[in-house]
Amino acid sequence: MSEDRLKIALIGSGIGSLAAAKQLYKKHDVTIFEAESHIGGHAYTAPIEINGKAQKIDVGVQVIVPSYYPNIMSEIAALQEEGAKIDLHASSMVIYAAGTDSEGKEVGWGNTAEYQKRPEVRSVWNEETQKNASDFMLRAELMSQKEQLQSIEEWLDTQKVSPEFREFCLKPLMSTVTLTSSGLDRTPFIFITGLFPGMLSFSNATTWFRFNDGVVSFIDALVAPFKDSIRLNSRVEEVFPTADKKVSVRLADNDNVEVFDKVVYGGSLGVLNEANSQILNNPQNDNWATQKAHIQTFKNQDSIMYIHQDESTIPKNCPVDASEIFDERVKGAPIQHDNLSVIYDLPTGAKNPVAWNSLYPDAILPPPDNLLHPAIHWKHEFLDMSSLGARMQLHEIQGLGGVYYCGASAAVPGFEQCFLSGLIVAEHIDSSARYPFSTDPQNPAYQGYQFLSGLMFPPPATQGADSDTSNIEVSFPEGSEEEQQNRG
Ligand SMILES: Cc1cc2nc3c(=O)[nH]c(=O)nc-3n(C[C@H](O)[C@H](O)[C@H](O)COP(=O)(O)OP(=O)(O)OC[C@H]3O[C@@H](n4cnc5c(N)ncnc54)[C@H](O)[C@@H]3O)c2cc1C
Repeated sequence: MSEDRLKIALIGSGIGSLAAAKQLYKKHDVTIFEAESHIGGHAYTAPIEINGKAQKIDVGVQVIVPSYYPNIMSEIAALQEEGAKIDLHASSMVIYAAGTDSEGKEVGWGNTAEYQKRPEVRSVWNEETQKNASDFMLRAELMSQKEQLQSIEEWLDTQKVSPEFREFCLKPLMSTVTLTSSGLDRTPFIFITGLFPGMLSFSNATTWFRFNDGVVSFIDALVAPFKDSIRLNSRVEEVFPTADKKVSVRLADNDNVEVFDKVVYGGSLGVLNEANSQILNNPQNDNWATQKAHIQTFKNQDSIMYIHQDESTIPKNCPVDASEIFDERVKGAPIQHDNLSVIYDLPTGAKNPVAWNSLYPDAILPPPDNLLHPAIHWKHEFLDMSSLGARMQLHEIQGLGGVYYCGASAAVPGFEQCFLSGLIVAEHIDSSARYPFSTDPQNPAYQGYQFLSGLMFPPPATQGADSDTSNIEVSFPEGSEEEQQNRG
């Protein structure tokens, strides 16, 4: 092996790991250990028969918004140029949220102007709310990173926005991210601006895309050149340093230890949590105390998703033609319904297949009759506030002892940012693994890359400067007692 040829282990085959592997496999010996029997982690397509027809339904990452996923779009274009068949289907994001107003009256909120024309939907658009919305967008764009770490609630208090705007414009959009409107009030601004700025286009639907043949069509094309490096059903049990400053990896079902020069944790550290508690339990890891302490602050939300075919489960008063319906009134916990008929353009007249997605383990879900696919239990990285805080400080342990972190723990959760985080880690392991797309400063994809690079590996020169996040005390309230109970 030539001197600069490295042996690199990537833990997990989520999009972050795969992006890093793609950058590194040509020059280095890369091995991807995946605990499950499929590649892609939260990018997972399930084959499901609906009304007698085979459909490929994405049950993890489902939608991408081209304007906010410029790096994923660049990768898709590059793969298509090489002959890969990845078809995208455009649709419009119709979000409908059901809830009760301050007087306990049932109300509906819609994100599109069209929905707001309906009698059952609270109409909120007037001169003042329009102005609040455009101020909100403008401020979001101009904020420094430090300002973005304040909670939306804090920001709203200083801005004196109208209660109407807060209650009926922001709330429904908030519920798309945190599934609880109160949760979003406490969410740092950066989470929103980094995650779904597209959803903040208040008065009209944003266009979003799904993969015609499932996200698997993209994952398969991405991994084609290094598929042989992926070891499925290979759960990593322990990672520990060796005396000669290398890193050892031990698999769950194998007492043999393999030694690597570098290890990359892909995926959410909360997702990896169960394994991590063991991975980091090894007494030989004692000199990694900082890593251990940090990683243990990551938590994830248990969520459950299942797909059934029972329209009666769509809450009364909710329009059946919305693509995503959020219901805060469901007993137990809020629920997201994905209306697959709308999302996948299924023939009209067919019974609507509905995907239920709850981020709360004790949510009361519909009876498991008519299930079109067995329930899928995810560890979701979206909600947890302490993980957000840990994420902002992750740069303190990046690269320590030859171990790097990409994926949802390192980035803002979401397909674009996790992908980017893999590119960034690859470049820090090997500086010749450069950013693969146009480095024109005007290229939004490159701007996104630079922004996330600055968060993941802040240059020493910025320490103490406004853009540095390491010295900022961020408090992430645990939530109300009731919420904590819901979260188990
Ligand atoms: C239900 C759902 C819907 C979503 N919808 C969207 C969406 O519409 N748009 C969007 O942008 N994002 C969406 N997301 C978020 C997006 O899917 C994730 O942010 C992103 O895919 C996470 O990628 P990652 O690189 O962090 O890796 P992950 O996808 O978290 O993959 C980590 C991998 O590591 C493996 N692993 C864990 N422990 C071990 C171990 N010890 N040894 C070996 N392997 C291990 C896991 O099996 C997994 O395959 C959704 C997520 C979920 C759960």
